[in-house]
Amino acid sequence: MMNQKIIPSGSVLNIQRYAVHDGPGIRVVVFLKGCPLRCWWCHNPESQQLQCKRITQTVKLDDRTQVEEEETIGQLMSVNEVMRAIEKEVIFFDQSGGGVTFSGGEPFMQPQFLDALLTRCQEQEIHTAVDTTGYAAPYMFEPISEKVDIFLYDLKLIDDTLHRQYTGVSNELTLKNLHSLSVREKQIWIRFPVIPGITDTVQNVYDIQRVISRLKGVQQVNLLPFHKIADGKYRKFGLENKMKDIQPPSDDQMAALKEQFEQQGFPVKIGG
Ligand code: SF4
Repeated sequence: MMNQKIIPSGSVLNIQRYAVHDGPGIRVVVFLKGCPLRCWWCHNPESQQLQCKRITQTVKLDDRTQVEEEETIGQLMSVNEVMRAIEKEVIFFDQSGGGVTFSGGEPFMQPQFLDALLTRCQEQEIHTAVDTTGYAAPYMFEPISEKVDIFLYDLKLIDDTLHRQYTGVSNELTLKNLHSLSVREKQIWIRFPVIPGITDTVQNVYDIQRVISRLKGVQQVNLLPFHKIADGKYRKFGLENKMKDIQPPSDDQMAALKEQFEQQGFPVKIGG
């Protein structure tokens, strides 16, 4: 019998073209579904479930008329289908120094799919970035990470008790895998979500800077201010929004934080 290699399919939330905030140049961002974390401030709550889901919502047309609309969140796609979408944009990658970014959810929730996509990108010399929390078993994270050009690595809270409280999981794997990237001198962009009263405390900012200062390969730090654009999604999907009364940090607060990180010698950018 012939030994046929099975090419995995995966659960994709959507594929965004012409993205300029998720790695260098103009990029295609492939949002993979599934995330083991439950961050209070998640702005993509529909990406947390691995399975594609059909939802029904009531849409009000006027005071007397309302209709039921069905929508499927995500779709099952083969590696070939995703690659076809990526390949259409190669001309922009070449001109801008861009490529493809795998984001989520947490891309490492679908390791075989991610691995197969990265392998195909490598074969076609397409630059790759992975936006990750690093919440993955090291035996799986390390070999897959060898195929990634740049990591957009989310660091949220260094105190493990707080990390468990606000994300639902320990930060042990996150820190362990980050260390492993550093030892292997992989290129890293640290992404720090600035969540008022949760991640922007004096202690946590100090701890984050301490962790980053010990790493090799950090090319820049992105400060991602909390925003409220996901409020509508929480209502639409009937999910509890624990952040509904929290306001985004002001421009002045973000500028002060930027200066603080810059004093540590890191190139810092506000936003993605
Ligand atoms: S890691 Fe990202 S996708 Fe997952 S819950 Fe947190 S913010 Fe949402």
